[in-house]
This record gives sequence, C-alpha cells and structure tokens, in this order.
Amino acid sequence: MHKFLTSLIMGIFLFLGGNAMANNALTAKQQAIAAAASYAARGNQQGLKQALTEGLDAGVTVNEFKEILVQVYAYCGFPRSLNALTTLMQLENERGNKDEQGALPGPKPEGSSLEYGTANQTKLVGAPVSGSLYDFAPAIDEYLKAHLFGDIFARNNIDWQTRELATIAMLASLDNVDSQLNGHIQIGKHNGLTDEQVAEILSIADRTGAENVLFGKGTENTAYAQYFIGKSYLQPLTGEGVGISNVTFEPKCRNNWHIHHKGGQILLVVSGRGWYQEWGKPAQELHPGDVVNIPAEVKHWHGAAKDSWFTHIAVAVPAEGASNEWLEAVTDEEYNKLK
Ligand code: MN
Repeated sequence: MHKFLTSLIMGIFLFLGGNAMANNALTAKQQAIAAAASYAARGNQQGLKQALTEGLDAGVTVNEFKEILVQVYAYCGFPRSLNALTTLMQLENERGNKDEQGALPGPKPEGSSLEYGTANQTKLVGAPVSGSLYDFAPAIDEYLKAHLFGDIFARNNIDWQTRELATIAMLASLDNVDSQLNGHIQIGKHNGLTDEQVAEILSIADRTGAENVLFGKGTENTAYAQYFIGKSYLQPLTGEGVGISNVTFEPKCRNNWHIHHKGGQILLVVSGRGWYQEWGKPAQELHPGDVVNIPAEVKHWHGAAKDSWFTHIAVAVPAEGASNEWLEAVTDEEYNKLK
C-alpha cells in the first residue's frame, strides 16, 4: 500500500482513538458498494461477485449497482466497467433475477450537459474548478464537466455521497493516483463523508488488494482461531503428499509462537506486508515474492503488519510423524514495536 494511504489511515485512527477501529463506520450497504467499486477497479471478478452478493443481500438494488459499475469507466476505463457489469448480469441470472431492481434515474436536467455538469462540479467541490492543466488541455476540462459531472452525476438514482464513496474506493485501488484520490477524499468529506467513513473505505480497498486472486481467500479460519490474534482466512489448496494452503491475515493478525516438528514449513508471500520472527532473533519484514524457509524445531510466528492485509501460501514440508506445537501468543508489547 502507498505510504500516503498508510499514513492517512493511521493518522485518522490515531485521531479517533483505538475504539474507532472496532466499530464499522459504514453501513453494510456502503461497505458492499465500496468493496464492489474496489474489486471492479482491480478487475477481480471473483471478489466483485462476492461483494455484489453481500450488497444485494443487504438491500443494495440492481440499478444502484449498475450506476456504480457504469461510473467505474470514468476512473478505470471501459474494459473494467464492461467486465464488472457482465459479472453483475451473470450473478443476477444465477440468482433468478429476483433482486429488487430499484429506481431508474429521473429525466435529464434542463440545458446542455456542459452547463449542468459545470454547476454540479462547482457544487460537489465547493468552488469553481479551474487550473493551468485545463487551460493547457481544454478538451479534458470539457469532458470532465460535460460527461463525468454532467451526464453521469446527473443520474439521480444514487446520491453524490454514494458516488464519491465509490470513487474513493476505486482510486484507492489504483496505483499512482494520489492527487486524484486526495481530491476525491476532500470532495467526499464536502458531501458528508466522515473521517471515520473515509478510513474504512481506504481499509476496504487495502483488503481487496491483499487477496490472492489466483487461489481465493477461502473461509474464516475458525479451526485455528485459538492460536491466532485477529481474524485469518484459510483456503486449503491440496493435501496430496504436501499440505499447501493460502492464508490471509487481516491487519494486526498474527499466529502464536509455534514449532513445526520433524517437517518444517515454507512461506511464499503473495500480497500485502507482514512479519516473520524466530525466537531470540529480530523480526523480518515480508513483502510479495519473499520466500521463508522455516526449519523443523524452530520456534517462530508469522502474520500481518499493523496497517496491511497480508497473504502467504504455507507449504508443510512432509516428514514422518510431523506435528505442530502451538505456544504462547505474541503479546501486543512485542508486536507493537514493529512498524
Ligand atoms: Mn509456521
């Protein structure tokens, strides 16, 4: 994740205090819209299908999701939007087309789309928008005003706050668009989103980026939850000869100190930022592409960094009579020393 995003999220959480993290700032509908926008921006159809399912079950209408996924094209291009709408259409067919359709947009406003788009943009941002870039390339200024803030934002079957919520989720899912993301966070706040809600949108976008799109996140790892602090998710991949699983950790989640007896373990880091530590040694920071060889009989733990989702594939090195021994938790005191 970008340092910018990280510091922004941490700054907001520090400002709000620790309790804010335990509460959901967004409603279930808003969470699903943010997740759907983020997955659509990333082109992750599997994750998108899950978010759409959760949203439809929570009461988001089909037409509300269509608006969000059409708006995707303004920020991520037609291919991402077309693929996302295809996923929604297929999901609706699977669900028997029984979900609530919801309202369609009302008639277009009076005047040209450039006129009402300019007015919409001014209202959204709180002041008229101009700048040297728009003098340099007037066509992009016209398209932003007439098309994005005119044609799209005039469609009034979802409100502007929802459109901005989706936009923040999309931009937070793209690389190197910090300027636009920062701009839309300001616009979102101008349209009623709270700092806490913005922090949760950014956290959702971070989460969607940490998911292993090849193998899937799997289900919550309840079987081993007693040996973990925080939530983890387990996707068993194979048990034939070699046990291999995809493990996803939420931010701050880590497993207890433990030992793999007889056979060791190999970790292949897939996404996010995390840690590996052997007893009596400094913790090692982990990034995608890192490979960790954990010898048998070595006491250790592994897990996510405090501000990032983290995914690794865990390979159990086969050995006669291999077993795992679970030991004490990694205390907050030890863990909080890590960056
Ligand atoms: Mn281990």
